Amino acid sequence: MLVSAKEMLTKAKAGKYAVGQFNINNLEWAKSILLTAQELNSPVILGVSEGAGKYMCGYTTVVGMVKGMIKELGITVPVAIHLDHGSYEHALKCIEAGFSSVMFDGSHYPIDENIAKTKELVKIANEKGISVEAEVGAIGGEEDGVVGNGEVADVEECKMIAGLGVDMLAAGIGNIHGKYPENWAGLRFDVLEEIGKATSPMPLVLHGGTGIPDDMIKKAISLGVSKINVNTECQLSFAAATRKYIEAEKDLQGKGFDPRKLLAPGCEAIKATVKEKMELFGSVGKAE
Ligand SMILES: [Zn+2]
Repeated sequence: MLVSAKEMLTKAKAGKYAVGQFNINNLEWAKSILLTAQELNSPVILGVSEGAGKYMCGYTTVVGMVKGMIKELGITVPVAIHLDHGSYEHALKCIEAGFSSVMFDGSHYPIDENIAKTKELVKIANEKGISVEAEVGAIGGEEDGVVGNGEVADVEECKMIAGLGVDMLAAGIGNIHGKYPENWAGLRFDVLEEIGKATSPMPLVLHGGTGIPDDMIKKAISLGVSKINVNTECQLSFAAATRKYIEAEKDLQGKGFDPRKLLAPGCEAIKATVKEKMELFGSVGKAE
């Protein structure tokens, strides 16, 4: 069933586990993730970036596809459709299209403007029972000036944004999107602990989940992280499985060129990655 992320994350925080956000790119992605969540009886968040939304022919197409799958596949676990790193304008579009959750990434605005826009969105989303994720302190990436370290959020700013009625908060704690550099300094658990105390009982979100060692993930969950974003890892496993199929020339054998056969190994690879993550995050069996 399609729900907001609020209740599932409140439960996750109380139960000391995390719900995975798995970004989708097409029908195969959505289907593989939903089937795995159902099989493992786990709540799940389907992440949609602005780029992926455009690729899938717009947000209403995404909502129609996911709702159709929930019905036709008999998906009974809680499912949220969530805008990932949305601008203010796109968050509004997603609310209009029927998303059950949105992230407003106002981290590049001055803090006053981030606050004003977050407040506006919370008001609009609340009326429709849609959850809102806010971000403080940009999550590091290639453009990061400090080699080996992601950006670290300011605790006071986290407290301010958390007080605006958002349902979950993403804060930079040295995490990075995409692949981590060799000399990465690791997650700043001291900062996470402070943010957790200052924003309690707000569920915290960890972006850039690909490549963070398992023990760090578990420690982050123990300190209040209740949602973990996974994107790159599914892409890598899908690509590797598809490459293997083609390199084995299976597409040249019989009806191996049939897209339903050609894409099947990639789908199985996504399922395996999602399963591995759900087990690591502790969300298996937590759907109600
Ligand atoms: Zn992110």
